[in-house]
Amino acid sequence: MTETMHPNQAAPVVAVVPFGSAPLIAAKVIAAHVSGYLNLAVETLPPMDIPPDALDQGRLQHNAASLIQAIEAMPLKDYFKIIALFNVDLFIPLLTHVFGEARQNGRVALVSIFRLETHVDGSSPSSERVLERAAKIGLHELGHLLNLLHCDDDRCLMYFSGGVDTLDRTAFNFCRYCRTALRRALAKPWHP
Ligand SMILES: [Zn+2]
Ligand SMILES: [Zn+2]
Repeated sequence: MTETMHPNQAAPVVAVVPFGSAPLIAAKVIAAHVSGYLNLAVETLPPMDIPPDALDQGRLQHNAASLIQAIEAMPLKDYFKIIALFNVDLFIPLLTHVFGEARQNGRVALVSIFRLETHVDGSSPSSERVLERAAKIGLHELGHLLNLLHCDDDRCLMYFSGGVDTLDRTAFNFCRYCRTALRRALAKPWHP
C-alpha cells in the first residue's frame, strides 16, 4: 500500500483497545494479525473503562450497538479503524450473543473473548486456541469495517461463525474473492 500512497496522505492506523479487564495479550495478538494479514499500521492502546450505559440490566449482557455508539463518540485520535476488545458477554437484540460486531464500512468493531474461553462441550480450550479465535474474529470484524460481507466459503475468515466449533474449522485466511475486496477497500484514499 505504502508505495502507491500520495506523500501528503495520512497513513491509516488501526487501533486495538482493550476495555475493562480484557487481556492485553489478546489485544496484541489481534494487532499482530491485522498488521500481518493486511499490512496496516496498528497501535495497541492502554486499557479503557467499559462505557457504563451499555449493560442491559434485564439480560445482564452488554449491548453491542450501544458500545459501538459510545466508542465512536470517544475522543480517540484519528484512527482509521478501531477494534475494541472485551471480555464481557455481548448481544444484539436478535441473537442470544455475538462474538463480535461491526457495522458495514463503520469505524468501530467489537470483539469479545467471553464466549471463546469454552468449547461447545463446556471444556476449556488452551490459551493459544482462545487467542487464535480472538484473532479470527478481529480480522472478520475488520473485514466488515472495510465493507466486506459474509462469504459462503467456509475456508474464508468472512464465513459467518455462530459457534466456536465453526470458528475453529474456519481457515485462518481470506479467500481470493475477499482478498481482492480487501485490497480494493485499502487502496481507496483515506483522510482522517
Ligand atoms: Zn460477520
Ligand atoms: Zn471470502
